Amino acid sequence: MPLTRTLGPATVVALQDGEGTFFQPREEAFPQVSAKLWARVDERDPGAVTADGQWLLRFRCFAVRHGDHVTLVDTGIGPAGSLASSWAPVPGRLPDELAAAGIDPADVDTVVLSHLHTDHIGWAVVGTPYFPNAAYLIPRADVEAMGRPELDDRLFTPLEQTGQLRLVEGDVPIAAGVTAIATPGHTPGHQSVLVEYAGERLLVTGDLLVHAVQLVAPETAYLHEMDPELARDSRTKLLKAGITLATPHLSEPFVRA
Ligand SMILES: [Zn+2]
Repeated sequence: MPLTRTLGPATVVALQDGEGTFFQPREEAFPQVSAKLWARVDERDPGAVTADGQWLLRFRCFAVRHGDHVTLVDTGIGPAGSLASSWAPVPGRLPDELAAAGIDPADVDTVVLSHLHTDHIGWAVVGTPYFPNAAYLIPRADVEAMGRPELDDRLFTPLEQTGQLRLVEGDVPIAAGVTAIATPGHTPGHQSVLVEYAGERLLVTGDLLVHAVQLVAPETAYLHEMDPELARDSRTKLLKAGITLATPHLSEPFVRA
């Protein structure tokens, strides 16, 4: 059964689409990290490193169930032949994970794409929108900065044709206690999803946080952040004690800041 966290009336469900090693050495992906810091990080998240020192990452999406509503945050690496297939371990298994959680794709009414990197958009459109009844919230700033013809054909045009595309900016309320919030830096329009009930807070981070090194040392820059300083500011602002983080790439889906 998928791992879950409950906050008041909301349940957050972790859905793992895949798992594999990163395409470059982690010392290159996080160039500022000392050997001493790596040792601390490996104690914090021992499942994120292989015996030969490679970064072993998960590719995860999260469903937020609240009343009759289902919000899906990110759509993983996707099926064979997806845009992530050049570097990620496709095919992903999100359809099986959704079924195990008792979620039919038709039940999803909102899809939030944290950003437009290919390991987050894999199942969004598979020929046609994979979630036929969902509004897709996509950050406008990412479309402007990262748009390219493959994305037109394989993401934007199919969603436009069915009237499911919503380009968003800033903070967007989704349901009572569930809000998409702007966390720019990894990409210009990057967004995370905050779930808040009765004083409890859970943040579905997206790539605001990609590795436990950014939990142990939140100022740590990641090579693939488009604006590392802005990413650091977004991260340090949100990683406050007491918040639960739901992360796509760490070895455990739920961690405490
Ligand atoms: Zn990612």
